[in-house]
Amino acid sequence: MKKFLAFLLITISFTATQESEDYKIEKIEVAKENATKEILPVVKESNVKNVILMIGDGTGLAQISSGQLAIAGPDGLLHMQTMPVTGIVKTHSSDNLITDSAAGATAYSCGLKTYNGAIGVTPDSLSCKTILELAEENGLSTGLISTSSITHATPASFASHVVQRSMQEEIAADFLDSGVEVFLGGGVKWFAEDQRTDSLNLIGQFEEKGYEIILSGEQLINSSSDKLLGLFAEDGLERKEGEPSSKMMVKNALGVLNTNDEGFFLMIEGSQIDWAGHGNNVDYLKQEVQDFDEAVEAVLEFARQDGETLVVLTADHETGGMTMQRQIAEGDSLEIFWTTDYHTGIPVPLMAYGPQATEFMGWRDNTYVGIKLAELLGVGELPILH
Ligand SMILES: [Zn+2]
Repeated sequence: MKKFLAFLLITISFTATQESEDYKIEKIEVAKENATKEILPVVKESNVKNVILMIGDGTGLAQISSGQLAIAGPDGLLHMQTMPVTGIVKTHSSDNLITDSAAGATAYSCGLKTYNGAIGVTPDSLSCKTILELAEENGLSTGLISTSSITHATPASFASHVVQRSMQEEIAADFLDSGVEVFLGGGVKWFAEDQRTDSLNLIGQFEEKGYEIILSGEQLINSSSDKLLGLFAEDGLERKEGEPSSKMMVKNALGVLNTNDEGFFLMIEGSQIDWAGHGNNVDYLKQEVQDFDEAVEAVLEFARQDGETLVVLTADHETGGMTMQRQIAEGDSLEIFWTTDYHTGIPVPLMAYGPQATEFMGWRDNTYVGIKLAELLGVGELPILH
């Protein structure tokens, strides 16, 4: 019996050690300054002329609040936290309780549930019309911004239709006929003839369609065309010198899109918040939350002045099963506990500002967000099959 107990104890402690080794524990430094910001007022104006949808990929509550602690301090707020209306979004896909970014983005773009990996197609692989395509058909201007390749799952789901997210060459080719005025992100390799497997000179074809091709932050600032294809890295942005920040991309995109009296639809993705979650890396996370939040600052500044711009910020899913546990010392830092290196099914927060923002209060399905945005922008009733 004694022998058995000893064996049992060894087994239990071995199991416990194994489990704790599965989780990565990191530390974030808490900012001292407490950059307090006021919550914006609820906008009474009811006309929605423009919609800006911001998607923090993999951005759950812990990503936002730990970012706030590290950037704005315990009593401060990130810009995204100054949006006065909040809601909660359920994120499951048609074939999995844990969604990926493709099905997550298609829920927002087409207003329907689909399978993980699907880009702008239904569970039966039929193309579904996106809010961006409806906006184009109605004479509005449109734009896509990401810090990943612009052909990555989230932006792709708004302007292309393929059965698998890995088909990035097809996605880039789909973009050519989308009518989108502004593409800003990474992904040269999916457009350049010397890197595509079919040797198609997509960059040349975009030029023929009137797009100005932009390869650096400086070229972006000096751009003068009303159609932009900005590709700032081979694949995802690398945060190298010469690349634009998300804020810079947003400001230039707004300059182009806001010349259309009919209005515009713009999707902005903070793509690499998700990658920091996959990597269980809080330093990377802080950098990406800050970059995204500075873009939010530019968006909110624009929306406040404009008065007819509805801004909705949410996520496709949470990544990393990130939790905040155990204060260290006197609150100088905080322990972060990562419970997985993949996505989780925990619902994600939504923040809204501008006319009709209160439509997004409450617990909502991710498909509701896409359907409601199309309705409020007055471009049509999703979902629509081609
Ligand atoms: Zn992911």
